[in-house]
Amino acid sequence: MKKVKTSAKGRVCRYRNCHNILSIYNHEEYCHVHQLMALSGNINKPSSLKKAVIKKQKK
Ligand SMILES: [Zn+2]
Repeated sequence: MKKVKTSAKGRVCRYRNCHNILSIYNHEEYCHVHQLMALSGNINKPSSLKKAVIKKQKK
């Protein structure tokens, strides 16, 4: 029996407002549509990440 690497069932695309269920054979974070967008850098990144970079603690 061949072992096929699969991901957890019922994962949802991480793109905002996208509720596409990812295939267990899709190991990416996004559905195929948004995966292309993510690869081309055309995806909205969480604003919290940006804030974390800008907010530097002064010592
Ligand atoms: Zn998606």
